[in-house]
Amino acid sequence: MNLNTHVAFALAVGLVLFHNDLSLAVLAGIGAALPDLDREYIFTRRAMFARYQLHRALFHNLFFASAVTLFNPYLGLGVFLHMLLDMLTSPTDGGIELFFPLGRLVKDIKMDYEGRVRTSRGIMWLLEDPVRLINRTADVGLRETVKMPWLRVYGPFKNSRLADWTIFYFSFLFIQLFEIHDLLNWWIQFLSTVFLKYTFITIGLVLFYSIGELWRKKLQFKNVTDNQKLAIISGMTLGGLMIIYQGQSLFMPVRLTKSK
Ligand SMILES: [Zn+2]
Repeated sequence: MNLNTHVAFALAVGLVLFHNDLSLAVLAGIGAALPDLDREYIFTRRAMFARYQLHRALFHNLFFASAVTLFNPYLGLGVFLHMLLDMLTSPTDGGIELFFPLGRLVKDIKMDYEGRVRTSRGIMWLLEDPVRLINRTADVGLRETVKMPWLRVYGPFKNSRLADWTIFYFSFLFIQLFEIHDLLNWWIQFLSTVFLKYTFITIGLVLFYSIGELWRKKLQFKNVTDNQKLAIISGMTLGGLMIIYQGQSLFMPVRLTKSK
């Protein structure tokens, strides 16, 4: 899904949850912009992307989301909301790998329809034989007839572009109505939070994603000179450093014990 959809949705949810504090809602929006940093922006061959499939895996799993939540729960909320939306997309868009990297431990297993392992390479941690087990224990009507890929979690959104725009406009409209009593003032507060309070993170994210997308969609597999490559790497590194630079200051772990 598009980044603007993720950010708008998280911002809307954040406003409902933390209405008295706009900057917390903005943090949820920033959190929602983080998972897609795992897109194929690295400089490598197409075959490598196809092989490792890190997008919607590396930063779209429960472990990453939990780590961000421990760092800052408001950012973490944004990450979880991002994953929730991506989880609703169909296999065309890839769903998400909720348990990455655990699912990757199962490698190259060829099973017959009975679930018996015929050949395997790499670590196998799933030692039971799932298809046969499911078939033995499931209700008669629910027995699987074909092998099911359970690596990724998918949802019903076949046309993700339609879902994208629907969720984006719905979130946008919702925010306007939610803040209607003082909308102009809200926009001023919102823009100053985004650009004045979180200046480095905002510019860093814009820089990183806009150059990354330019690279991914337009330049990646064309003849790019070394100087152009250097410019792209520098721009994205600068963006990344700006995010990390201000990001550190957001360290806000939840205290389990109340201080007196
Ligand atoms: Zn995503």
